[in-house]
Amino acid sequence: LSEFHKPGENPQIDPKLKEQHLAWTEGKVYTRFPPEPNGYLHIGHVKAIMVDFGYAKFHGGRTYLRYDDTNPEAEEGRYFQSILETVRWLGFEPWKITYSSDNFDKLYELAVELIRRGKAYVCTCDAEKIKEDRGGGKGNPVPCVHRDTPIETSLREFERMKNGEYEEKAACLRMKMDLNSGNPYMWDTIAYRVKKAPHHRTGDKWKIYPTYDFTHCLCDSIENISHSLCTTEFIPARESYEWLCDALTVYKARQYEFARLNLQGTFLSKRKIAKLVNTKLVKDWDDPRLYTIIALRRRGIPPGALLAFVAELGVTNVNSTTEIKKFESVIRKYLEDSAPRLMMVLNPVKLIIDNVPDDYRVPVQVPLHPKVPSMGTVETSFTKEVYIDAEDFREVDSPDYFRLAPGKSVGLFKAPFPVTCTSYKTDPATGKVTEIHCHLEDSGTAKKAKAYIQWVNVPEAVKIDEVRYFKPLFKSDPPPADFEADVNPDSLEVYKDAVIEPAFYELSKKAISDARKESEERTKKAKAESAIGSKAGPAEGSEAAKH
Ligand code: ATP
Ligand code: MG
Ligand code: MG
Repeated sequence: LSEFHKPGENPQIDPKLKEQHLAWTEGKVYTRFPPEPNGYLHIGHVKAIMVDFGYAKFHGGRTYLRYDDTNPEAEEGRYFQSILETVRWLGFEPWKITYSSDNFDKLYELAVELIRRGKAYVCTCDAEKIKEDRGGGKGNPVPCVHRDTPIETSLREFERMKNGEYEEKAACLRMKMDLNSGNPYMWDTIAYRVKKAPHHRTGDKWKIYPTYDFTHCLCDSIENISHSLCTTEFIPARESYEWLCDALTVYKARQYEFARLNLQGTFLSKRKIAKLVNTKLVKDWDDPRLYTIIALRRRGIPPGALLAFVAELGVTNVNSTTEIKKFESVIRKYLEDSAPRLMMVLNPVKLIIDNVPDDYRVPVQVPLHPKVPSMGTVETSFTKEVYIDAEDFREVDSPDYFRLAPGKSVGLFKAPFPVTCTSYKTDPATGKVTEIHCHLEDSGTAKKAKAYIQWVNVPEAVKIDEVRYFKPLFKSDPPPADFEADVNPDSLEVYKDAVIEPAFYELSKKAISDARKESEERTKKAKAESAIGSKAGPAEGSEAAKH
């Protein structure tokens, strides 16, 4: 994180504004995590959360959770709720929860002030014309015909926009920036647009809403953010961020950028994920083929493993794409010593041991982890009939194959002796193997098995209604622009006949309840820590506390 300190790079701040800021913050680091509540968070946000909360925490500072709720159409209550839950699940507690919409009145006043200062104007061109004047965003911008509208006229028209007298897209407020700049963000960026949709928090009060470019820097200013941390695609926006604060003579935070987290074979964008959900190409936001945090959580990945993954990647400003293999290996390593090993047979075939009596039953202790004896064992019984996986048997043997085939022996995990296949039956209609007959080797002649396979005894097997096995969602890597057509229809494999040992069932139930308890404890702990942090804030009654 020391990347963020680049001596001499701090913007020139008006000394008086700087003094006020320092009086308020008492020199502490203030950051914010500012998601737009238009979807559930994804693994990229874990990085942003770690950077925003982690940087402040490291420096004894504070972090706001700020809902950037300026796009009424895309916002839903469940997203607000889930964002907070996710931040807490990751172990962070916001110092304060704020909403960009808290500042709508103030932002409106600032927009009026900007017009008064001759630095904004109402433009009634259509989107096409604006784009054309801006040279398609590529170069050679020309001044809009409304650029020199008298201040009084713009004030009046802006008021009319506010009163709902303009239809959507019929007018907007544009900042009068610098058409000679090489930076398209300086080509009279839009500050306000007309929107008639009701807002999640302010209802029908507003007919105009501020854009990201107008809102973000001013909310950072209002909240006295010291480090405005964002991803590198905002580097060119930094110039307009600073321009606006300066144009209004308000405190301006320093924006620092870090690289987005990108994962191979998928995309991380709420908008695109929403499209997959809405078109039913995935089941919901927590579909395990997605990289949303609720999906990863549902896959059984604990918060610590996600934090470990992001920490391992580190924070730089070089954009790169991380391999899924890397992600999986970090998660696997994290879970290696704590995840129990249990037996499941996805595609069961009955294996019958002919040389033991019908009531043959040998108790077997199976360790839950091969290398962590302290995890304990579960008990099962080895019986005359057991299920093995169809994949662990081949009708035609080959020298490089070590599992079961006619005439060949294999070990059944933790069973007393290996078994040797004597015959098998197939279904004449499908050709599928239906029954495998074996001979249990005895103590005198048994050789050590070359390979061990899993099994579940027939009398106690617990049948699972449905086992879902997930593969990559997209056929291409990276998924193309029309990603919907690229969804792999076989990315979800469903097994309807799978069986597990009874202990598997019991332990899963326990794991779910333990995870729930742990999550509640994390939230409690994070809340308690933040309560301690807030006591150290500006003293009550002090100048700073009044802000
Ligand atoms: P999305 O396209 O998924 O909506 P966004 O960039 O619009 O993403 P927001 O929810 O508006 O995301 O942003 C919240 C914060 O999370 C921002 O500071 C943003 O830069 C950061 N963020 C979003 N995606 C990533 C990512 N892939 N890696 C790191 N940070 C990210
Ligand atoms: Mg955003
Ligand atoms: Mg977005």
